[in-house]
Amino acid sequence: MSGRARLRRVAVGVATALAVALGAAPAVAADPAAVALAQADAYVSPRVLGTAASAEQAVLAERAAALRAERRPVKLAVVLGPVGAPSLQAYTRRLAQELGFEGTLLVTRRGGGVASVGPRSTAEMTVRLREARVGAIANPAERLATAAGVVAVPLPDVNGSSWRPAATLLLLGLLGGGWAVAMGAGRAGRRERRDLAERRARARVRLDALRAHAIGLAGFPGLPDDERRHVQAALGGYADIVAQAAEARTPDAVEALDARIDEGLDTLAGVASRVGAPHPRGDIFAGLCAVDPGHGGGTADGVVDGRPGARVCPACQEAAATGRRLSSRMVPAGAGAVPFAAVGEDPQEGGGPVR
Ligand SMILES: [Zn+2]
Repeated sequence: MSGRARLRRVAVGVATALAVALGAAPAVAADPAAVALAQADAYVSPRVLGTAASAEQAVLAERAAALRAERRPVKLAVVLGPVGAPSLQAYTRRLAQELGFEGTLLVTRRGGGVASVGPRSTAEMTVRLREARVGAIANPAERLATAAGVVAVPLPDVNGSSWRPAATLLLLGLLGGGWAVAMGAGRAGRRERRDLAERRARARVRLDALRAHAIGLAGFPGLPDDERRHVQAALGGYADIVAQAAEARTPDAVEALDARIDEGLDTLAGVASRVGAPHPRGDIFAGLCAVDPGHGGGTADGVVDGRPGARVCPACQEAAATGRRLSSRMVPAGAGAVPFAAVGEDPQEGGGPVR
């Protein structure tokens, strides 16, 4: 970090400390994301993710720490909106300047895209984010964790030249999948792409279940510290697997992550049984919203896909109360799609009867 950047960072720190000491000056309320990111690498607005915000922030902090260890520093923020700026990209550019941050800063909002500022050009980052279909990820924290893995680059070292070869290698790695198709894999290539999309969707829904169980357990009253560490380890593993699933270029590479997802689920099942929390073994979606396990715990009865007696989350209950028909999240299978619950059945299944 240059001397000037360090000074700027100190200035931001002092300004925010002053703002805090003065007790929230009503005229110019400090941007909570700027305050948080001046001293940490992750921020999730409680106004976007409610009670899940601190657990999601912990996931993002783990992800940022892992990237920092690879010398690919990022700062990540889920915000309510671009406070005082015309667009999320303009807001992100200003925030990066305020923080004097030289790594990659990524910002997203509920239901919005991802804005990023860093050593890579905005155009290049936009292309990469689009290729990784980051915009299709519904959960903002997960969207950001995935985006970070896609665009973060190693910082230049003192002579300023080291990240280029590294980026070239990364680019060659990304091209790997493309070459296979270009070199006449033909129909096999198309089949493999469909398989890849299918495996990714299955992994994603199982990862959503893993995250929802972990967040549920993190909020379990009186969770002892040593058990909390297991839950945090599972969340850290989750963030890591999400990034690897996004970077995986073959169906086998995605399938290889299954064992690690199972490991995380086993860890959580262990914690649940030791502390007496509900977390039945056998069905990884048990206890979660029947519309989408990523929503979290099912707390009310609801009618899903026309079938009564399902358990749904508060948001889905509210949607149903306003007359919306609830239908279960679908995952691609063969030429069509099946309800996500099919993914939770028979985890040992080897051949795959659905294709
Ligand atoms: Zn729901």
